[in-house]
Amino acid sequence: MQVLNIYNSLTNKKEVFKPLQEGYVGMYVCGPTVYSNVHLGNVRTFISFDLIYRYFLHLGYKVRYVRNITDAGHLTDDTAEDKISTKARLEKLEPMEIVQKYTIDFHHILEKFNALPPSIEPTATGHLIEQIEAVQTILDNGLAYEVNGSVYFDVLKYNEKENYGILSKRKIEESIENTRDLDGQSDKKNPQDFALWKRAEPEHIQRWNSPWGAGFPGWHLECTVMSTKYLGEQFDIHGGGMDLKFPHHECEIAQAQACYHKAPVNYWMHGNMLTFNGRKMSKSTGNNILPEEIFTGESKFLSKAYSAGVVRFFMMQAHYRSILDFSDEAVLAAEKGYNRLMEAVEILQGLEPGKTSTYEVSEWKEKCYDAMNDDFNSPVLIAHLFEAVKQINLMKVGKASLADADLKSLKETLYAFVFDVLGLEDKAKSEGDSNKLSGIVNMMIELRNEARANKDWALSDKIRDDLQKLGVQLKDGKEGTTFTLN
Ligand code: AMP
Ligand code: ZN
Repeated sequence: MQVLNIYNSLTNKKEVFKPLQEGYVGMYVCGPTVYSNVHLGNVRTFISFDLIYRYFLHLGYKVRYVRNITDAGHLTDDTAEDKISTKARLEKLEPMEIVQKYTIDFHHILEKFNALPPSIEPTATGHLIEQIEAVQTILDNGLAYEVNGSVYFDVLKYNEKENYGILSKRKIEESIENTRDLDGQSDKKNPQDFALWKRAEPEHIQRWNSPWGAGFPGWHLECTVMSTKYLGEQFDIHGGGMDLKFPHHECEIAQAQACYHKAPVNYWMHGNMLTFNGRKMSKSTGNNILPEEIFTGESKFLSKAYSAGVVRFFMMQAHYRSILDFSDEAVLAAEKGYNRLMEAVEILQGLEPGKTSTYEVSEWKEKCYDAMNDDFNSPVLIAHLFEAVKQINLMKVGKASLADADLKSLKETLYAFVFDVLGLEDKAKSEGDSNKLSGIVNMMIELRNEARANKDWALSDKIRDDLQKLGVQLKDGKEGTTFTLN
């Protein structure tokens, strides 16, 4: 079996993965800015990294997966206010109410898509002390300057000894920071410079005291501080969407170099964009679709509702570094494929071994691993899984067979790739869980019937009310008691 190769955006080539510490992986992925519901484009990036996380786990690595929540400091394009403060002002809410609401939404949506939670999920506001310390270190190291209560990173000075553009391959002249901040612009020595700390204008709600006055941290800083805090000054993998490569990740490298005098990340990984009508799915342009619209089918762009599993499968059919265009037809086609794969998984569960094997399982298994070892190539993996689907359907009608050991290996490998690595829903398990739940509720109904027969109304009411609190509604009818789940 081939070793794991990862496409490194820093070198623009595939490299053999060598972790800093044998058997361990440190991975940081930029999380969402929690000021609105996540759209399907955001979801794609997190699912891409979920696949990567899952494959590392499957290979037996111990992974520390850190994914942050940006709850302060992310500037909007056309004002000097950050996204969360703007939303809080418009909705007349506390910024932390906005943060809470959309963090919950984010978790809820990712859980539906069966994405594993990260090991650590740090927030920007939870790491202000560390961020202020980092600003001070960069000032002390002579690579930042203070103007009117804001602190900027001195890109030209940094570039004298280091390479600003090492990741994005942009020449410094082209690297005018693309986050405009109109009122702060004049404070900078050079337009390339970016804010480490911003002075808070009187109307700015999210503000903290610092040695430079009341303000808030620049967006790029939190990721430098939180990644190195939890993974070390040098760690294995840093990921995010392609759109974050510049300026966000370029600035992260500069900040870390300025603090610790070493390159922070060995492998930079960037997931490509989900497009819609050929354009990047994005919150600000309105060219997006929300997961909830997909689950309900309530969208003029959809002919029907789709499950999270189908959408996840649709995404896995594209390599994480390829652009993927979302359309009703494409997801409809993915649904057919998903159903065919899941049917085969179910058929396989009931298949008995034959005397001989008519199919080379070990070769097939190796091809599956080769695909994933080639920079997590899930579409090629899925093509191989469908080769197994064909064999399973032949076995079902007696036109192929597998001896005991081969059948076991096929089962083990197929289940591992479908459920553990691709993270497609384990229908059998969710059906099993719902059967268990029905069994328990029916048992409670029987106990309630006994209580009523004994005229123990207090107990019978308690059972009904307590179940209701848990979202289980009992209905007494002629045929006995039935229940519905809310
Ligand atoms: P944001 O909340 O805007 O910081 O974005 C959170 C993550 O979603 C980042 O890693 C972005 O790169 C990613 N993202 C935003 N739009 C898209 C898109 N259309 N396709 C894939 N990823 C995206
Ligand atoms: Zn980040």
